[in-house]
Amino acid sequence: MLFFISFLLGLLLGSFYNVVGLRVPKAESIVAPRSHCPSCKRTLTATELIPVVSYVLQKGKCRACSARISFVYPFVELSTAMLFALAPLFVGWSAEVVVSWTLISLFAIVFVSDVHYMVIPNRILLFFAPLLLIERLWFAPLTPWWDSLLGSIVGFLMLFIIALISKGGMGGGDIKLFAVIGLVLGAKLTVVAFFLSTLVGTIFGLVGMAIGRVKRGEPMPFGPAIAVGTMIAYFFGEAMIEAYVNVMM
Ligand SMILES: [Zn+2]
Repeated sequence: MLFFISFLLGLLLGSFYNVVGLRVPKAESIVAPRSHCPSCKRTLTATELIPVVSYVLQKGKCRACSARISFVYPFVELSTAMLFALAPLFVGWSAEVVVSWTLISLFAIVFVSDVHYMVIPNRILLFFAPLLLIERLWFAPLTPWWDSLLGSIVGFLMLFIIALISKGGMGGGDIKLFAVIGLVLGAKLTVVAFFLSTLVGTIFGLVGMAIGRVKRGEPMPFGPAIAVGTMIAYFFGEAMIEAYVNVMM
């Protein structure tokens, strides 16, 4: 039952995060006007706003003008829902669930903005950074508690230095995002998150080139890879480090 409620909550929030991720970079209100078809500008009816279901029933097309609806919408809705439902299974029904749901929410919005505009909005980071800091210092602290602050510094410096060396391979948004990730994961797992993100980014790039969506040398958003890499590190990082140490011993 809790699993089902978490899934539904994720589905509804995921739908909202699509709107947030699309509108915040353009400095538009996230409540008004109501959602409309970007092609024919028609305001969507209630039945067209049901997460995932509308997309499937309409076969991914606008009912009026038949314009293709981006696959990003149902993907973000479904991923948010599945992660919301799975998180408690990984971290247990504890205060940590709130932290994981907050982190998933941040990544859902970052994913939408970065895929559509190649931007990770400052306003989103400025909203989530204090929220996650409060959660980490107040009701779901790391041990030791200051690992949050250390993680944030490590995340920021690591990406900042790589941005300097790679000259433009890393955007300012990616650097700031990793400072926020550090708050949640702590120093050690933030390093793991970075390596997994670059690995996932490489895979995305190769797949993108294979299916002809990405051209060699063309910039591509790093946000989606950071989201995937960091969630893996967050849920499985400790187990991965343990397995690695065991192999090395
Ligand atoms: Zn339309």
